[in-house]
Amino acid sequence: MSQHIHCIVNDCEYWKQGNMCAANEILVATDKFGASQPDKVDATMAKQLTPQNAGTCMETCCKTYVPKGSNKHTVDGVNKLF
Ligand code: SF4
Repeated sequence: MSQHIHCIVNDCEYWKQGNMCAANEILVATDKFGASQPDKVDATMAKQLTPQNAGTCMETCCKTYVPKGSNKHTVDGVNKLF
């Protein structure tokens, strides 16, 4: 399956040149959810999670974001595609 997630957050472990996301899956969540859940709660658990209302785009975030070089990308179970 081809993937076309574009992202301009270039300090993320999954960010690649051309403003591409190299994660094999991501979880977009409300800011409230993102701030309250540990790193291990991510895209790999998506089917178990309860959907929520955000209200505006300003209240959503990429839960899969991991600071580049932090080695935290091993916690969420998400893999790099390229
Ligand atoms: S995981 Fe999220 S923040 Fe990181 S590159 Fe992909 S879309 Fe952007």
